[in-house]
Amino acid sequence: MPKKSRICRSLFVLLSLLVLSGCARNPVTGKRQIVLISERQEIAYGREAHPEVLAQFGRVEDSNLQSYFNQIGQKLAGLSHRPQLEWHFNVVDSPIVNAFALPGGYIYFTREILAYMNNEAELAGVMGHEIGHVTARHSVSQISKSQLFGVGLGLGSVLSPTFSQLSELAQAGVGMLSLKYGRDDERQSDELGVEYMSLGGYDPRELSKFFVVFQQMRADSNQSIPDWLSSHPAPPDRITATRQEAEIIVRAQPDKRWIVNRETFLRRISGIVFGENPREGFRSDGWFVHPELEFRIRIPTGWRVQNSKQAVVSSPASEDAAIQLTLAEAPEGTSPGEYARDLAEQSGVELLEGENTRINGNRAFIGTYRFQDSQGNRLSALAAFIDFRGRLYQILGLAPNQTFSKYARTFEDSLTSFSRLRDRNLLNVQPDRLQIRTARRGQTLRQIAQAVNNPRMNAEALSRLNRIDVDQSLRAGTLVKVIEAGRR
Ligand SMILES: [Zn+2]
Repeated sequence: MPKKSRICRSLFVLLSLLVLSGCARNPVTGKRQIVLISERQEIAYGREAHPEVLAQFGRVEDSNLQSYFNQIGQKLAGLSHRPQLEWHFNVVDSPIVNAFALPGGYIYFTREILAYMNNEAELAGVMGHEIGHVTARHSVSQISKSQLFGVGLGLGSVLSPTFSQLSELAQAGVGMLSLKYGRDDERQSDELGVEYMSLGGYDPRELSKFFVVFQQMRADSNQSIPDWLSSHPAPPDRITATRQEAEIIVRAQPDKRWIVNRETFLRRISGIVFGENPREGFRSDGWFVHPELEFRIRIPTGWRVQNSKQAVVSSPASEDAAIQLTLAEAPEGTSPGEYARDLAEQSGVELLEGENTRINGNRAFIGTYRFQDSQGNRLSALAAFIDFRGRLYQILGLAPNQTFSKYARTFEDSLTSFSRLRDRNLLNVQPDRLQIRTARRGQTLRQIAQAVNNPRMNAEALSRLNRIDVDQSLRAGTLVKVIEAGRR
């Protein structure tokens, strides 16, 4: 063989190797597709992001519910195109109707989306849909860290959050994971959801029934579009398409007894918190109060407040300033003054002035910092570090250098108002909870709503939650969801 051609051949082999390493077979379609990250990276990615998600939302502390949820998840994942992945299923503590997946096999449902479901088959359908995003490797090549953590990330790290992140936070709303998939991905996940749930023995027709909830919510002007819908661009034929796919499967197995499991499901979700949990902080007159941590802080008039598990951020409509409260990440026993000076050691951060002081009886340090964010913006911060009941609180009043003086007084008023919450009524608030009631023969949801008497949940809202007409007379023994009012 002439020398030249051998070189050509080895060059060709080398080139194919290079090209193939950038390709992988899609687990669902079996087709080769170009992916920018390997399965190992994908898994590492999910594993790294998982604790951040739990930190941002918190996990619902109900081991019965979690193990039930995990059991259904594992069953469906085992029937999916990627049974070999290590799958993780968690119910997170958020009042927003949402379900989402991280690459590598991490699936999350909020407690609120569970509250809107009516049986195990609906749960299995949405579960199958989210598993589908993972098995078909949707967006794996596009997802960037900033997309995942557009909200919430970096808030724990001192003085590094950029100003744009703060205004993003103010706009986006706390607790939203801004993962967006394309329409084709959604359609494919819907198909996979129908497929996986029916493989698990669940009645596939229930998935399209659950989608109807979102239509009702959207039609109701009082309710904003839930995240699951807004982050899932829905083709108008989505309900029809999933219904038709389900019909085909059901027709092909005429003798099969499909699982719906309404009662089991309702019993499992009984007792979960519904809506905002006031124990984790809320506005009261001019204050933000936190019954669980027993503190309060003044919020400037007209400013908005975003409260998450990691930070409380308040900002004016102009969004050119923010007050951010977090727990400082400091070793136990660090004094406010030590912590303040440690911060100034960071490169690009300058402590202009500051002193040890007391704020409403608590050991504190107040200082003025100047620093640059990652985009090169020059910012100033009035910072207070307060030792309160064994924790070190960090409160920053942040503004660009040019407008800082305009806000200095407002920041100071807020920072120095931080104090112990003593109002018993505020300390003892309790959230609303979902409970299961058994209807008497002929009873209607309207009557049940009257009996429950929750000012935040009228008969119409209860009707939407149960997807039962408000004046329909119920059969004896029918289980219905009600929302019992917590103490306010
Ligand atoms: Zn989706």
